[in-house]
Amino acid sequence: MRSYDAVVIGGGPAGMAAALYLARAGVHFLVVEKLSHGGQMLLTDELENFPGFPDGVKGYELADRMDEHVKQYEFDHHYDEVQKVIPGEEFHEVVIDGEHIKTRVIIIASGVTFRKLKVPNEEKLLGRGVSYCALCDGNFFKGKKVAVIGGGNSALEESIYLSRLVKKLYLVHRRGEFRADKVYQDKCLANPVIEPVLNAVVSKIIGDDEVVGVETRNTETGEYSILDVDGVFIFVGYNAVCSFFPENLALDQYGFIKTTCEMESSIPGIYAAGDIRSKKCRQVVTAVGDGATAATAAFAYLEHK
Ligand SMILES: Cc1cc2nc3c(=O)[nH]c(=O)nc-3n(C[C@H](O)[C@H](O)[C@H](O)COP(=O)(O)OP(=O)(O)OC[C@H]3O[C@@H](n4cnc5c(N)ncnc54)[C@H](O)[C@@H]3O)c2cc1C
Repeated sequence: MRSYDAVVIGGGPAGMAAALYLARAGVHFLVVEKLSHGGQMLLTDELENFPGFPDGVKGYELADRMDEHVKQYEFDHHYDEVQKVIPGEEFHEVVIDGEHIKTRVIIIASGVTFRKLKVPNEEKLLGRGVSYCALCDGNFFKGKKVAVIGGGNSALEESIYLSRLVKKLYLVHRRGEFRADKVYQDKCLANPVIEPVLNAVVSKIIGDDEVVGVETRNTETGEYSILDVDGVFIFVGYNAVCSFFPENLALDQYGFIKTTCEMESSIPGIYAAGDIRSKKCRQVVTAVGDGATAATAAFAYLEHK
């Protein structure tokens, strides 16, 4: 059986930062990535909020720079999907394509995917008016009109953030009232920029090269309407990538891994970093911070052992 001090699951920014810190600490480790290094950065056209790049940086370019940096050091990598994590006392096991790999420490940095509306043009206009991240893309819509889709805390919190940038925001929710905490509802309802559009589902995003509107259907009357907007922000939930999680791993109510501020999960020797852990700000800059923190804590854990 192959054996390591540490296995990092995921080659996005959190996983690459963890790898960099583990490598520099001299830890014998493996990084497992199911697709390609870079994670969600590969879906990002331009990042304008990663410190050190005042003119912005293309997502794939930042991914390549991180990969080049980390690969200056020697460590094992494996391109495949982790199927299972089996926690143990002294050693945990990571299962990849039937192979069991023994490791003292695991850093889970497997990220998230955004739940899609699955309506026409959503995929085609991603990055051209369709967004899943207000912090990332809000600035592109300064002084413009947008629709925010969703009725939970994320949708309303992000609407409050966006309302400081845009001139008009339609908050579209399929039910007659929002699910979000009352404090967010009160703020949104009192905000002159935000107009709630209740009992409405998006039937289509309109646009050829960029978003020019959103078609909605009223769930009570069946009537269709068009909202004339330049952008659509979709906050209908995340899919935390969790099929390989051990059963006793503590998760928050949304399925994200609960950690301490040192990124330790509820299972000793298992850490979580980046979007997959329970936190408010899911960004590249916080993912790399989490990765570095997790690797440093994991190194201290290995030293202690
Ligand atoms: C369209 C878009 C635009 C964005 N714009 C910005 C922006 O402008 N600025 C910003 O800071 N952030 C932005 N973000 C958010 C940012 O990309 C994420 O917060 C960040 O990538 C999270 O990093 P991560 O390493 O935690 O996860 P991810 O980037 O999701 O990486 C996780 C990796 O784990 C791999 N993985 C998953 N499951 C397994 C498994 N079972 N086995 C092996 N590997 C696995 C995945 O293939 C993936 O490569 C954007 C995101 C999107 C989608």
